Amino acid sequence: MSFTSITVLLSLAMGAPSWASQAAQDFLSANIDPTVSPREDFFRYASGEWLRRNPIPEDKARWGIWNVASDETYARLRTISEKAAARMAYRGSAEQLIGDVWATGMDSAAINKQGLAPLKLDLDRIAEVRSIRDLIDVVAMLHRRNMLTDNYFVRQRVLFDDGVERDEIDSNQRIYSLSQGGLTMGRLAYSATDSPRVKVQNAFREYLFRTFLRLHGDRGKARASADAVYDLESRLAAGSEHGDMSRRMRTADLGQLAPTIDWNRYFQQIGVTRIDAVDVRQPGFFRALDSLLRAASLETWKDYLRFWLIKVNAPFLDDGTYGEFFAYKSAVTGQSQPEPRWRRVVWQEKNWLGLPLAKLYLDAEIPPNARSRYRSVAEAIREAFRERVEHSDWISDSTKDSAIHKLGRLRITIGYPERWIDFRTMPLRRDSYVLNMIRSAEWFHDREIKSLNTPIDKEEVDLHPSIGGDAEYLHSSNEVRVPDPVPPGLRDQQLDDATVYGATWLGHEIAHALDSEGRYYDASGNRVDWWTAADAAAFEKRTQGLVDQYNELMPLEGLHVDGRSTLRENMADLVGLRIALDAFKKTEQFKKNVRVGGFTPLQRFFLAYAYARMGHERPESLAARLRGRGAYAPDRERVNGVVANIAEFYEAFDVQPGDPMYRPERARVQVW
Ligand SMILES: [Zn+2]
Repeated sequence: MSFTSITVLLSLAMGAPSWASQAAQDFLSANIDPTVSPREDFFRYASGEWLRRNPIPEDKARWGIWNVASDETYARLRTISEKAAARMAYRGSAEQLIGDVWATGMDSAAINKQGLAPLKLDLDRIAEVRSIRDLIDVVAMLHRRNMLTDNYFVRQRVLFDDGVERDEIDSNQRIYSLSQGGLTMGRLAYSATDSPRVKVQNAFREYLFRTFLRLHGDRGKARASADAVYDLESRLAAGSEHGDMSRRMRTADLGQLAPTIDWNRYFQQIGVTRIDAVDVRQPGFFRALDSLLRAASLETWKDYLRFWLIKVNAPFLDDGTYGEFFAYKSAVTGQSQPEPRWRRVVWQEKNWLGLPLAKLYLDAEIPPNARSRYRSVAEAIREAFRERVEHSDWISDSTKDSAIHKLGRLRITIGYPERWIDFRTMPLRRDSYVLNMIRSAEWFHDREIKSLNTPIDKEEVDLHPSIGGDAEYLHSSNEVRVPDPVPPGLRDQQLDDATVYGATWLGHEIAHALDSEGRYYDASGNRVDWWTAADAAAFEKRTQGLVDQYNELMPLEGLHVDGRSTLRENMADLVGLRIALDAFKKTEQFKKNVRVGGFTPLQRFFLAYAYARMGHERPESLAARLRGRGAYAPDRERVNGVVANIAEFYEAFDVQPGDPMYRPERARVQVW
């Protein structure tokens, strides 16, 4: 599948193929590069014009239709939020919650006028700290707002981390866990001497200084506080451990590990009523923390709390405070400019009020008729997969039955949410952005803490669903989730079946249920091997063909795809396309074989497949990805590598022996 400038010249000389010249004003043909033949490089043919019109932005390493889709989603969420804010909806409704966050988050005049005033009560409380007991009380108060620090940048929580988790020993139960935390930089960054990390150290010192100057108003005092807090975090870092040394202990034994902390009082403050066992991830850290609590001065601890209070709330505070936070973030991430305010507010809504926002998105963007159409498409694809498994001649009846049972039990969720929870007690108002974020954080925290002693409900509502984003398959619940089934950039509900079946990710996600990883999980999502040894060996042999195929692909001179690391996704691409095509072939459009936009149904099906995967990447980034042996093959290989295994592709575009896209029949792979 090599592609050289000579082939471009050749196809130019031969003229555009007939189906391209017939295509008029159709969105699939609008992306086509007519100078490339689909027999040479189907990916370039199908998306060349789109790639030319959508160059990779300066500050991005990769760019594709998924970025455009994400921009579209953001724009829609903005409109949805504006509409919600314009209404005075009843308490606890999605409109009220989103409307209040949006109205306060977008009011930059009020945010700037308020400055740090909304945090005055918290700052006063820190000023009144007289003992370690008072200090831990403030830590507990901040831990009730844990959610606020859960973003991609501020990873750790003040002093240490805690949370309620699924118990790995008994997956029906939850367990309370304690882990190390309290650091602004990475554990090893404090003592590092290499220049990139020294640059981050300096930016952190500057951030501390700016914050204390804002709080104390005196340069000398600010410098002293900054140095002391930097030193305190360095000592916490020195006491941190590498990895997870998980130790289960009785709550009473925590007093031996870290006796300076009154653990019963702490649990009470965060709302835990009954707790017997704790999972302590890094016991050594808690011993080190205990001695540091006694060794460092109370004044330094108070400054540490002040800094953390400002830092975790910075994204919701005035431009000055946020700017100082961003200057540090920029030194760490390289991001040169903050995103516009509206995008940052949508981001917060998406992450922390995901359920109400998803409800509004669903109501506004995915009407019931679209949901039901894609549900039928999903069922048609599931049925096509079942038939393929049923007719496969290489597995025993018992494995076949289990595979069919698993497909039958697969849960397919299209558009969120299917259920709703009562938000009427979440006390949001139109007074302060930062206070709204704190209120929602505390509300979610208290809800989670209350769940500690209740068994896990497998049907539990996902409080933070993904919106408009990627579809996924979850092994542990044997479930496909598709937040938004409509292909990116195509809101028109009148799409022809060829486009819908070709572009959908449903086939790919459903195929994951029986892929190289999915085969290790049963119909209920338990990890059990339900394959006979002979069937497993036969499966392995078929997958090896796919591994070999991708190992041979060379997207960059001298750099090959890793067929093994990309196996699972390649298999889902291949099987997904195969079963979507099987399902499509049962539609009226396929049977009547009517051309749309100058293309046959089969041609449109493959063009739509390429449409949903249009994208490109800088060579440096692609090289790093290939060397890093990631889970995904490059965009071009994910299209060309798959269609070349499907017989109907040859028929659709008249691919002949000798064409670069041609693969002899014996070299084609079929898993299912
Ligand atoms: Zn996948």
